[in-house]
Amino acid sequence: MTDQTAERPNHERTLDHVGVAVHSLDDALPLWESLVGAKGSGRERVDTQGVEVVFVGWGPGRIELLAPTRAESPVARFLERRGTGMHHLCYRVSDLRAALEEHRQAGHELIDSEPRGGAHGHRVAFLHPRSTSGVLIELLEARDE
Ligand code: ZN
Repeated sequence: MTDQTAERPNHERTLDHVGVAVHSLDDALPLWESLVGAKGSGRERVDTQGVEVVFVGWGPGRIELLAPTRAESPVARFLERRGTGMHHLCYRVSDLRAALEEHRQAGHELIDSEPRGGAHGHRVAFLHPRSTSGVLIELLEARDE
């Protein structure tokens, strides 16, 4: 038996949230509040990504609703091509730079070669769905809380 943890450092990951792209946070919130059974919170504009987000629920697997704040943002293009729906899965990592290097070495296509600022001051980076079974993956290193 091999020691998987020794071969795969920085691999303890939990699902942080599931991103869902919508046209309007105000229109989508009542549905998602009833599905999740919690009120939306932490509403924030992330201007670097051209989105406004709000979280519904607590803990792993909570929902992040994303709506575009400008026509040329990535989320606006996603909505144009595919309509509303699941946008990304976000995994929490302890060391984002190390995780990106690991994925680079594994031949996965990085959208962000460097960590950037995400909602709530966390550092995030995205992996391209071309190399991850068609699912956009966000990696998140939590700001010290
Ligand atoms: Zn996200």
